Amino acid sequence: MTGDQRYRLRRSVPLLPYLEQHGWKPTAYSERDEVCGLCPLHDDGRPSFYVNRRKNVFYCHGCGQGGDVIRLVELLHGLDFQAALAKLNGRGKQLWSDACAFYQHQLRVHLEAQSYLRSRGIEDPEIVERMRIGYAPGGCLRSYLEDLGYARAEIVSSGLIDAHGRDRMWRAVTFPIADTASMYGRRIDRADVRHCFLARPKGGLWGWGRARACQTVIVVEGLFDLASLWQAGFDNAVALLGSHFNDRQRAQLCDGRERTVYLCLDADENGSGPRAARLWSRRLAQRGLRLLPVALPEGFDPNRFFAAGGSAAEFSRYLEQAGR
Ligand SMILES: [Zn+2]
Repeated sequence: MTGDQRYRLRRSVPLLPYLEQHGWKPTAYSERDEVCGLCPLHDDGRPSFYVNRRKNVFYCHGCGQGGDVIRLVELLHGLDFQAALAKLNGRGKQLWSDACAFYQHQLRVHLEAQSYLRSRGIEDPEIVERMRIGYAPGGCLRSYLEDLGYARAEIVSSGLIDAHGRDRMWRAVTFPIADTASMYGRRIDRADVRHCFLARPKGGLWGWGRARACQTVIVVEGLFDLASLWQAGFDNAVALLGSHFNDRQRAQLCDGRERTVYLCLDADENGSGPRAARLWSRRLAQRGLRLLPVALPEGFDPNRFFAAGGSAAEFSRYLEQAGR
Protein backbone atom coordinates (compact mmCIF):
# COMPACT_ATOMS: atom_id res chain seq x y z
CA MET A 1 0.00 0.00 0.00
CA THR A 2 1.37 3.39 -0.97
CA GLY A 3 1.31 6.43 1.30
CA ASP A 4 -1.37 7.88 -0.93
CA GLN A 5 -3.61 4.82 -0.54
CA ARG A 6 -3.09 4.90 3.20
CA TYR A 7 -4.02 8.58 3.24
CA ARG A 8 -7.21 7.86 1.28
CA LEU A 9 -8.15 4.97 3.56
CA ARG A 10 -7.55 7.09 6.63
CA ARG A 11 -9.81 9.78 5.22
CA SER A 12 -12.47 7.44 3.92
CA VAL A 13 -13.36 5.55 7.10
CA PRO A 14 -14.62 8.05 9.66
CA LEU A 15 -13.56 7.28 13.20
CA LEU A 16 -16.69 8.26 15.07
CA PRO A 17 -19.19 6.08 13.16
CA TYR A 18 -16.66 3.24 13.28
CA LEU A 19 -16.47 3.55 17.08
CA GLU A 20 -20.24 3.81 17.40
CA GLN A 21 -20.71 0.68 15.31
CA HIS A 22 -18.48 -1.06 17.83
CA GLY A 23 -20.63 -0.02 20.75
CA TRP A 24 -18.90 3.19 21.83
CA LYS A 25 -21.06 6.13 22.89
CA PRO A 26 -19.90 9.73 23.34
CA THR A 27 -20.91 11.25 26.67
CA ALA A 28 -20.16 14.87 25.87
CA TYR A 29 -19.62 17.14 22.92
CA SER A 30 -16.88 19.33 24.30
CA GLU A 31 -16.14 21.53 21.33
CA ARG A 32 -17.49 21.86 17.86
CA ASP A 33 -15.35 19.18 16.27
CA GLU A 34 -14.65 17.13 19.35
CA VAL A 35 -16.55 14.51 21.31
CA CYS A 36 -15.44 12.58 24.36
CA GLY A 37 -16.44 9.48 26.27
CA LEU A 38 -15.13 6.52 28.22
CA CYS A 39 -12.00 5.03 26.66
CA PRO A 40 -12.66 1.74 24.85
CA LEU A 41 -8.96 0.87 25.20
CA HIS A 42 -8.49 0.92 28.96
CA ASP A 43 -10.64 0.57 32.08
CA ASP A 44 -11.81 4.15 32.23
CA GLY A 45 -13.56 5.72 35.25
CA ARG A 46 -14.33 9.10 33.75
CA PRO A 47 -14.50 10.20 30.11
CA SER A 48 -10.93 10.71 28.94
CA PHE A 49 -11.19 9.55 25.31
CA TYR A 50 -11.46 12.32 22.71
CA VAL A 51 -12.34 12.06 19.03
CA ASN A 52 -11.75 14.93 16.65
CA ARG A 53 -14.26 14.51 13.85
CA ARG A 54 -12.70 17.02 11.50
CA LYS A 55 -9.18 15.62 11.75
CA ASN A 56 -10.46 12.04 12.10
CA VAL A 57 -8.08 11.28 14.98
CA PHE A 58 -8.45 10.17 18.61
CA TYR A 59 -6.54 10.66 21.85
CA CYS A 60 -6.97 9.26 25.36
CA HIS A 61 -5.72 11.31 28.33
CA GLY A 62 -5.97 8.20 30.52
CA CYS A 63 -3.83 5.62 28.68
CA GLY A 64 -2.08 8.00 26.34
CA GLN A 65 -3.06 6.13 23.17
CA GLY A 66 -3.92 8.13 20.07
CA GLY A 67 -3.75 8.22 16.29
CA ASP A 68 -5.75 7.70 13.12
CA VAL A 69 -8.39 5.16 12.21
CA ILE A 70 -5.81 2.52 11.29
CA ARG A 71 -4.20 2.85 14.75
CA LEU A 72 -7.62 2.62 16.38
CA VAL A 73 -8.42 -0.61 14.52
CA GLU A 74 -5.05 -2.04 15.59
CA LEU A 75 -5.68 -1.28 19.26
CA LEU A 76 -9.39 -2.06 19.33
CA HIS A 77 -9.06 -5.49 17.74
CA GLY A 78 -5.51 -6.35 18.74
CA LEU A 79 -4.29 -6.45 15.13
CA ASP A 80 -0.96 -5.59 13.58
CA PHE A 81 -0.73 -2.82 10.99
CA GLN A 82 -1.23 -5.06 7.94
CA ALA A 83 -4.19 -6.86 9.48
CA ALA A 84 -5.81 -3.54 10.43
CA LEU A 85 -5.41 -2.32 6.84
CA ALA A 86 -6.95 -5.54 5.55
CA LYS A 87 -9.88 -5.16 7.93
CA LEU A 88 -10.56 -1.61 6.74
CA ASN A 89 -10.13 -2.56 3.07
CA GLY A 90 -12.45 -5.51 3.58
CA ARG A 91 -15.06 -3.08 4.78
CA GLY A 92 -14.81 -1.16 1.49
CA LYS A 93 -15.23 -4.39 -0.43
CA GLN A 94 -18.26 -5.30 1.68
CA LEU A 95 -19.86 -1.94 0.96
CA TRP A 96 -19.34 -2.43 -2.78
CA SER A 97 -20.78 -5.93 -2.58
CA ASP A 98 -23.85 -4.69 -0.65
CA ALA A 99 -24.38 -2.02 -3.32
CA CYS A 100 -24.17 -4.63 -6.11
CA ALA A 101 -26.78 -6.81 -4.37
CA PHE A 102 -29.03 -3.78 -3.92
CA TYR A 103 -28.85 -2.93 -7.63
CA GLN A 104 -29.49 -6.55 -8.59
CA HIS A 105 -32.69 -6.40 -6.58
CA GLN A 106 -33.70 -3.09 -8.21
CA LEU A 107 -33.46 -4.70 -11.64
CA ARG A 108 -36.02 -7.30 -10.58
CA VAL A 109 -38.57 -4.61 -9.68
CA HIS A 110 -37.99 -1.97 -12.38
CA LEU A 111 -39.66 -2.81 -15.67
CA GLU A 112 -37.96 0.03 -17.58
CA ALA A 113 -34.55 -1.52 -16.93
CA GLN A 114 -35.75 -5.01 -17.85
CA SER A 115 -37.16 -3.73 -21.12
CA TYR A 116 -33.89 -1.90 -21.85
CA LEU A 117 -31.98 -5.17 -21.40
CA ARG A 118 -34.43 -6.93 -23.74
CA SER A 119 -33.90 -4.17 -26.32
CA ARG A 120 -30.19 -5.05 -26.19
CA GLY A 121 -31.06 -8.71 -26.70
CA ILE A 122 -30.18 -9.82 -23.15
CA GLU A 123 -33.03 -12.06 -22.02
CA ASP A 124 -31.59 -15.13 -20.34
CA PRO A 125 -32.14 -14.83 -16.55
CA GLU A 126 -29.21 -17.17 -15.96
CA ILE A 127 -26.84 -14.71 -17.70
CA VAL A 128 -28.29 -11.76 -15.79
CA GLU A 129 -27.68 -13.66 -12.56
CA ARG A 130 -24.24 -14.95 -13.53
CA MET A 131 -23.01 -11.46 -14.46
CA ARG A 132 -24.82 -9.91 -11.47
CA ILE A 133 -26.43 -7.32 -13.73
CA GLY A 134 -28.37 -4.69 -11.79
CA TYR A 135 -30.10 -1.37 -12.11
CA ALA A 136 -29.62 1.94 -10.33
CA PRO A 137 -32.97 3.73 -10.29
CA GLY A 138 -31.18 6.65 -8.59
CA GLY A 139 -31.62 8.38 -5.27
CA CYS A 140 -31.96 5.40 -2.97
CA LEU A 141 -28.57 3.69 -2.61
CA ARG A 142 -27.37 6.10 0.05
CA SER A 143 -30.24 5.56 2.48
CA TYR A 144 -30.05 1.81 1.91
CA LEU A 145 -26.34 1.72 2.78
CA GLU A 146 -26.82 4.09 5.72
CA ASP A 147 -29.47 1.74 7.09
CA LEU A 148 -26.87 -1.02 6.90
CA GLY A 149 -24.62 1.09 9.13
CA TYR A 150 -22.24 2.69 6.64
CA ALA A 151 -21.30 6.31 7.23
CA ARG A 152 -22.01 8.92 4.59
CA ALA A 153 -18.29 9.65 4.12
CA GLU A 154 -17.55 5.97 3.49
CA ILE A 155 -20.26 5.77 0.85
CA VAL A 156 -19.03 8.93 -0.86
CA SER A 157 -15.45 7.68 -0.86
CA SER A 158 -16.56 4.44 -2.56
CA GLY A 159 -17.48 6.60 -5.56
CA LEU A 160 -20.96 5.07 -5.75
CA ILE A 161 -22.62 8.35 -4.79
CA ASP A 162 -21.52 11.93 -5.39
CA ALA A 163 -21.00 14.63 -2.77
CA HIS A 164 -24.72 15.53 -2.97
CA GLY A 165 -25.73 11.96 -2.16
CA ARG A 166 -26.90 11.04 -5.66
CA ASP A 167 -26.16 7.68 -7.25
CA ARG A 168 -23.23 7.92 -9.66
CA MET A 169 -24.88 5.18 -11.76
CA TRP A 170 -28.18 7.02 -11.82
CA ARG A 171 -30.69 5.34 -14.18
CA ALA A 172 -28.06 2.96 -15.50
CA VAL A 173 -27.96 -0.79 -15.97
CA THR A 174 -25.02 -1.88 -13.81
CA PHE A 175 -22.34 -4.54 -14.10
CA PRO A 176 -20.03 -5.19 -11.12
CA ILE A 177 -16.30 -5.33 -11.88
CA ALA A 178 -15.18 -7.60 -9.06
CA ASP A 179 -11.44 -7.40 -9.74
CA THR A 180 -11.17 -3.83 -8.50
CA ALA A 181 -14.50 -3.49 -6.67
CA SER A 182 -15.56 -1.19 -9.48
CA MET A 183 -18.71 -0.91 -11.56
CA TYR A 184 -19.77 -0.16 -15.11
CA GLY A 185 -23.09 1.51 -15.83
CA ARG A 186 -24.96 2.04 -19.08
CA ARG A 187 -27.57 4.80 -18.86
CA ILE A 188 -30.89 3.64 -20.21
CA ASP A 189 -32.37 6.98 -21.28
CA ARG A 190 -29.67 9.59 -21.75
CA ALA A 191 -28.00 10.08 -25.07
CA ASP A 192 -25.29 12.53 -23.92
CA VAL A 193 -23.55 10.49 -21.21
CA ARG A 194 -24.13 6.84 -21.93
CA HIS A 195 -21.34 5.13 -20.06
CA CYS A 196 -20.32 5.53 -16.44
CA PHE A 197 -17.43 3.99 -14.55
CA LEU A 198 -16.16 4.42 -11.02
CA ALA A 199 -12.74 6.07 -10.90
CA ARG A 200 -10.81 2.81 -10.46
CA PRO A 201 -8.47 0.74 -12.59
CA LYS A 202 -10.34 -1.77 -14.75
CA GLY A 203 -8.37 -4.77 -13.52
CA GLY A 204 -7.99 -7.95 -15.56
CA LEU A 205 -10.12 -9.47 -18.31
CA TRP A 206 -13.75 -9.72 -17.19
CA GLY A 207 -14.70 -13.41 -17.12
CA TRP A 208 -11.13 -14.71 -17.27
CA GLY A 209 -11.76 -17.28 -14.53
CA ARG A 210 -14.09 -19.24 -16.82
CA ALA A 211 -12.17 -18.73 -20.05
CA ARG A 212 -8.56 -19.29 -19.01
CA ALA A 213 -8.67 -23.06 -19.36
CA CYS A 214 -10.19 -22.93 -22.87
CA GLN A 215 -8.11 -23.58 -25.98
CA THR A 216 -9.73 -20.68 -27.79
CA VAL A 217 -10.69 -17.39 -26.17
CA ILE A 218 -12.81 -14.61 -27.67
CA VAL A 219 -11.98 -11.09 -26.48
CA VAL A 220 -14.67 -8.42 -26.88
CA GLU A 221 -14.79 -4.78 -25.81
CA GLY A 222 -17.77 -4.38 -23.54
CA LEU A 223 -19.96 -6.19 -21.06
CA PHE A 224 -23.04 -6.12 -23.31
CA ASP A 225 -20.95 -7.85 -25.99
CA LEU A 226 -19.89 -10.40 -23.42
CA ALA A 227 -23.47 -10.99 -22.21
CA SER A 228 -24.57 -11.64 -25.81
CA LEU A 229 -21.77 -14.12 -26.40
CA TRP A 230 -22.33 -16.00 -23.15
CA GLN A 231 -26.03 -16.11 -23.94
CA ALA A 232 -25.23 -17.61 -27.35
CA GLY A 233 -23.16 -20.31 -25.64
CA PHE A 234 -19.64 -18.89 -26.09
CA ASP A 235 -18.48 -19.44 -22.51
CA ASN A 236 -14.90 -18.82 -23.64
CA ALA A 237 -15.52 -15.08 -24.16
CA VAL A 238 -14.02 -12.33 -21.98
CA ALA A 239 -14.41 -8.55 -21.95
CA LEU A 240 -11.51 -6.12 -22.30
CA LEU A 241 -13.53 -3.17 -20.93
CA GLY A 242 -12.37 -0.84 -23.69
CA SER A 243 -10.21 -1.29 -26.75
CA HIS A 244 -6.82 -1.37 -24.99
CA PHE A 245 -5.06 -4.09 -23.07
CA ASN A 246 -3.53 -3.15 -19.74
CA ASP A 247 -0.48 -4.96 -18.34
CA ARG A 248 -2.57 -7.32 -16.26
CA GLN A 249 -4.73 -8.35 -19.22
CA ARG A 250 -1.67 -8.92 -21.41
CA ALA A 251 -0.12 -11.06 -18.70
CA GLN A 252 -3.31 -13.12 -18.42
CA LEU A 253 -3.36 -13.92 -22.15
CA CYS A 254 0.40 -14.48 -22.32
CA ASP A 255 0.60 -16.90 -19.39
CA GLY A 256 2.51 -19.46 -21.42
CA ARG A 257 -0.51 -21.65 -22.13
CA GLU A 258 -1.13 -22.62 -25.74
CA ARG A 259 -4.33 -20.99 -26.98
CA THR A 260 -5.88 -19.18 -29.93
CA VAL A 261 -7.32 -15.77 -29.15
CA TYR A 262 -9.95 -14.06 -31.30
CA LEU A 263 -10.15 -10.32 -30.93
CA CYS A 264 -13.54 -8.89 -31.81
CA LEU A 265 -13.51 -5.12 -31.33
CA ASP A 266 -16.28 -2.72 -32.32
CA ALA A 267 -16.24 -1.76 -35.98
CA ASP A 268 -16.90 2.00 -35.66
CA GLU A 269 -17.45 4.13 -38.75
CA ASN A 270 -13.91 5.49 -38.44
CA GLY A 271 -12.44 2.00 -38.47
CA SER A 272 -10.73 2.41 -35.10
CA GLY A 273 -11.77 -1.07 -33.90
CA PRO A 274 -10.12 -3.07 -36.71
CA ARG A 275 -7.07 -0.78 -36.54
CA ALA A 276 -6.71 -1.40 -32.82
CA ALA A 277 -7.21 -5.14 -33.38
CA ARG A 278 -4.37 -5.25 -35.95
CA LEU A 279 -2.13 -3.21 -33.65
CA TRP A 280 -2.69 -5.53 -30.69
CA SER A 281 -2.27 -8.67 -32.78
CA ARG A 282 1.19 -7.39 -33.81
CA ARG A 283 2.15 -6.36 -30.30
CA LEU A 284 1.04 -9.56 -28.62
CA ALA A 285 2.61 -11.67 -31.36
CA GLN A 286 5.96 -10.43 -30.01
CA ARG A 287 5.05 -12.16 -26.77
CA GLY A 288 4.20 -15.39 -28.52
CA LEU A 289 0.44 -15.03 -28.60
CA ARG A 290 -1.54 -15.80 -31.76
CA LEU A 291 -4.26 -13.18 -31.83
CA LEU A 292 -6.76 -13.18 -34.70
CA PRO A 293 -8.76 -10.01 -35.46
CA VAL A 294 -12.41 -10.84 -36.25
CA ALA A 295 -14.24 -8.65 -38.76
CA LEU A 296 -17.99 -8.50 -38.20
CA PRO A 297 -20.15 -6.77 -40.83
CA GLU A 298 -19.66 -3.00 -40.85
CA GLY A 299 -21.38 -1.18 -37.97
CA PHE A 300 -21.79 -4.32 -35.85
CA ASP A 301 -20.32 -5.16 -32.51
CA PRO A 302 -21.05 -8.60 -31.02
CA ASN A 303 -23.97 -7.26 -28.97
CA ARG A 304 -25.64 -5.65 -31.97
CA PHE A 305 -24.90 -8.71 -34.09
CA PHE A 306 -26.84 -11.01 -31.77
CA ALA A 307 -29.54 -8.43 -30.86
CA ALA A 308 -30.25 -8.11 -34.60
CA GLY A 309 -30.91 -11.84 -34.79
CA GLY A 310 -27.44 -13.18 -35.61
CA SER A 311 -26.99 -16.85 -34.69
CA ALA A 312 -24.18 -18.67 -32.95
CA ALA A 313 -23.49 -20.60 -36.17
CA GLU A 314 -23.14 -17.35 -38.15
CA PHE A 315 -20.84 -15.89 -35.52
CA SER A 316 -18.70 -19.04 -35.64
CA ARG A 317 -18.27 -18.52 -39.38
CA TYR A 318 -16.77 -15.07 -38.72
CA LEU A 319 -14.35 -16.69 -36.29
CA GLU A 320 -13.38 -19.27 -38.93
CA GLN A 321 -12.75 -16.49 -41.46
CA ALA A 322 -10.45 -14.77 -38.99
CA GLY A 323 -8.45 -17.96 -38.66
CA ARG A 324 -7.70 -18.17 -42.38
ZN1 LIG B 1 -7.52 5.09 27.25
